[in-house]
Amino acid sequence: MKSIYGKLILGFLVSMLFSFSIAGYFSLRKNSDELGRLAEEELEMSSQHIADLLSLIDDEDLSRVLTGYSDTSEVNFFIECNGNKEIYGKVSGYELTYEQCELLKRNIGKTLIFQDSSVRKIARSYLLDGKSYIIYVQKDVGKREMIFIDSALIALFCMLVAGSITFLVIADIIVKPISRLNKATNELSKGNYRVRVNYAGNDEIARLNRSFNLMAQQLAKQEETRQQFISDVSHEFQTPLTAIQGFATILKNEQISDEQRKKYADIIVFHSKRLSTLSKNMLQLTVLDGEDVKLELSEFSLIEQLSRVIETQNNLALNKDIEIEFHVPKNDILIEADEARLEQVWINLVNNAIKYTNEHGVVTVEVKKSSKEIEVSIQDTGVGMSKEAISHIFERFYRQDKSRSVEGNGLGLSIVKRIIDLHKGVIDVVSVEDGGSQFTVKLPQERSFHLSEKLILTKKDKDNQ
Ligand code: ADP
Repeated sequence: MKSIYGKLILGFLVSMLFSFSIAGYFSLRKNSDELGRLAEEELEMSSQHIADLLSLIDDEDLSRVLTGYSDTSEVNFFIECNGNKEIYGKVSGYELTYEQCELLKRNIGKTLIFQDSSVRKIARSYLLDGKSYIIYVQKDVGKREMIFIDSALIALFCMLVAGSITFLVIADIIVKPISRLNKATNELSKGNYRVRVNYAGNDEIARLNRSFNLMAQQLAKQEETRQQFISDVSHEFQTPLTAIQGFATILKNEQISDEQRKKYADIIVFHSKRLSTLSKNMLQLTVLDGEDVKLELSEFSLIEQLSRVIETQNNLALNKDIEIEFHVPKNDILIEADEARLEQVWINLVNNAIKYTNEHGVVTVEVKKSSKEIEVSIQDTGVGMSKEAISHIFERFYRQDKSRSVEGNGLGLSIVKRIIDLHKGVIDVVSVEDGGSQFTVKLPQERSFHLSEKLILTKKDKDNQ
């Protein structure tokens, strides 16, 4: 049985038959006991009635009266008196044993009860006018049982018909939304991410439909991001490649002067460096995004690290006559972190501050330490960012300056954010257009990230490996 519809109906029929058989069996047993008890009461009354007739009716009328009684009351009986047996109606399957007869005769008024399938029987002894009688009465209760079974079967039939119709309607209500969901899932698997299913209420199926819609929505978003990513990557690669291709073609021309040749070769080198940085950044992001990314933790001086970074970026600042101020607390600050990756964070942030600050500006790097965290802020007096730009700067390939007048590829801050996240830190941005920007990185002082991040590898672990 392939469809859920068929399974539901089969389940319904099986459960109906099963429960009805159990209910039928027990009620039939109870009913049969009850019928037997009633029959025995009736038989006792009949035997008493026959005894009354025996003592009241004259001998010549007795046989006629007793035959009439047997016919009208559907009771079959015989009377035994001093070895004479008179049978009325159809008495079946009876033989009182000699011992039973003697027992009854000895104990006048005693009743023996017998049961032979659906026939109930009693035998009782009486002393009437000095003569001992045994009155044996029997009645068939099978007919009554059949009436009960018949009405039970009619009830079962009606329940099956009415129940099946009701169940078909209910099954339809349950199965239809599942079929609809199945159709939608097929559509989704074919790549139609716009497919949605309607739902009302809050039952399991409605919740399933809601989850499906949410999943389809997220898949659509992921697909959009994927396409945007491919388009961004090809765009970022295309620009330097076109430049390299163009200038390489010019270089093939033997007519150009040595000076021009050198200039074009420099441009090619510049663009190939750009390509190299781009692919390095992409590779770095892929590694950082990986499930098994590991931080190589060690303890080092944060002040020394920042001084080193400022030193390396100083030439760039000097070219634009930008002053770099470095404010540090009196005591050195030791930090446990992934040294190389954290250095990458400071390089990207300080480099951005210089890149996006006009000549004669100031870049301020400040380090603060509290009991809970270490705070590093990099502030500049540069071009700043719009509110819209601030909400996107951590996205891959996002650049506020669409004309790309400043060198970059829009991956630096994505890398920064990922590294800070891996260190369980936070990064905040405050910026005003044409008023400068301030990036603040907060790293936890406690090594909580160390304990909770199962993928982090300490220097010691590394040495032991
Ligand atoms: P890019 O290589 O373009 O600098 P980033 O990911 O480092 O890429 O930065 C993304 C964008 O954020 C930049 O293109 C720039 O628009 C903006 N941005 C980053 N840092 C600054 C800053 N200090 N001042 C102004 N804008 C900034």
